Amino acid sequence: MSMKKIKKIEMNCPICNQTHEVEERVRDAKVTIKDDVVTYKEKYYYCSNADEDENEFEPAMLVNVNLLNARNAYRRMHGLLTSDEIVSIRDAYGLSQVDLARLLGWGEATISRYESKAIQDEAYDTMLRIVKDNPLQVLDFLNQRSELFSEQKRDEIRTKIVEKVESFGKEYLTRRTLEGEYAVYGIPSDSNGFTLLNIDKLEAAISYIAEKVSNLFKVKLMKMLWYTDALSYKTHGHAVTGLVYKHDEMGALPVGHYSLMNLERLEVKEESSYNYDSMLHIYPTANMNYSILSNDDRDILDQVIKQFTNFNAKEIVEYMHQETAYTETKQGEIIPFELAKDIRAF
Ligand SMILES: [Zn+2]
Repeated sequence: MSMKKIKKIEMNCPICNQTHEVEERVRDAKVTIKDDVVTYKEKYYYCSNADEDENEFEPAMLVNVNLLNARNAYRRMHGLLTSDEIVSIRDAYGLSQVDLARLLGWGEATISRYESKAIQDEAYDTMLRIVKDNPLQVLDFLNQRSELFSEQKRDEIRTKIVEKVESFGKEYLTRRTLEGEYAVYGIPSDSNGFTLLNIDKLEAAISYIAEKVSNLFKVKLMKMLWYTDALSYKTHGHAVTGLVYKHDEMGALPVGHYSLMNLERLEVKEESSYNYDSMLHIYPTANMNYSILSNDDRDILDQVIKQFTNFNAKEIVEYMHQETAYTETKQGEIIPFELAKDIRAF
């Protein structure tokens, strides 16, 4: 039992029946929710006038706060939206609890329950995330169920949708395109190195490589990304980026590589080479947030950079051609991570 902070509140104390300052205390507590033991922050009041064995109490208001904290801890543990996150999704569109439930075709009390007491199951969570991330889908929902809203309410919601699309801007659209190409790889598998596509991490990894490798062009970058994911899989049992790679004449090539190079946050310039071919030159992104890369990720990236920094595109392609992952797969086939993990030691 660890105590974190002490706050004093004057109240009519039910333990000693006097009006005095009681301490509000917080401790780590455990509770079982749906067969999982969850650790959460429990708040309680402490009366310093009472005996040792009966000096704590939790008024009904704190019981509710604690229940909400426990459920939110369970949600975080399972990657589900917390009650506050559900409220903020609703607020972003100016929707009441009933409005959002209607928009999604759910019972009118559903959102109210998720914001106060019940834990949403995964299918409901997925729908709420779609509302959060995809205003165009919300527009579809609104059109499908328009008869459930007054004309004025429909106009208000449409205005919010347009605002959200505009604030997302071009970056939003380029990310959606790449996400669309990865929709079929939505579960961890041998194709994606048991990692779901993480565009923030992908952008950080690319900029990280570009910081340390001068003259980084597309062909070399694609190979370096594959070696990063392959080495991470070999070392830690999971890839870094979640990219899926196919066998191409020039080695491993990620699915969606055209969209990938269009990502708004990447610093890519089209330049002409000596033979007038157009080449994509990748530069580091100013102010890129690298905190999304774990120490393990950086360690893997550093090893790959050290190995290939002086290779030109032709050399890294020829090097990759020797890998089992290449010799055991055919043109256009997905390169399984089961083979990727057999890369030669650097
Ligand atoms: Zn007391």
